[in-house]
Amino acid sequence: MPGKGSELRIPSPSGCRWCGVEEREHMQRWKPPVGWHRWVPPTLEQRKERMQARRLGRQSGGTVPRSTVTRLAS
Ligand SMILES: [Zn+2]
Repeated sequence: MPGKGSELRIPSPSGCRWCGVEEREHMQRWKPPVGWHRWVPPTLEQRKERMQARRLGRQSGGTVPRSTVTRLAS
């Protein structure tokens, strides 16, 4: 199981568009560049990309490179 800290879990397809956290557990979060924010619905494009990434992630052990996750939740 890869756990070097260079890989992160893929955000949920319906997670916040800024940080990928699910609405029910979101509340207030801080994340650059938006700072404090409430849950915001992801764009259709983000949902698609996250679902694709999840599919890829399952094939590679449930994680993807940090760069991919950053792209999916920003
Ligand atoms: Zn968020």
